[in-house]
Amino acid sequence: METKWMTKGNCRNKAPEVFFPSDGLGVEVAKKICETCKVKNLCLSHAIENRIDHGVWGGTSERQRRRLRKEQQLIAVGF
Ligand code: SF4
Repeated sequence: METKWMTKGNCRNKAPEVFFPSDGLGVEVAKKICETCKVKNLCLSHAIENRIDHGVWGGTSERQRRRLRKEQQLIAVGF
């Protein structure tokens, strides 16, 4: 698994806890940091492909990734 992109993320100098928030406000703070991240797409793909359920990755919340995964599954079966 290639993870060199992680060293280029906007989060590289932030406390990891920021990206594992306990409330909606924290999620929005983390998503704001991701907004301008150059490796956002790689980060999101990594989280989806590895079924990472916790935290904000690639500018998405846990709920958003669950929805994306469901949509991908529906597409895969032809809906
Ligand atoms: S998208 Fe967000 S969590 Fe992912 S590398 Fe960038 S800043 Fe970090």
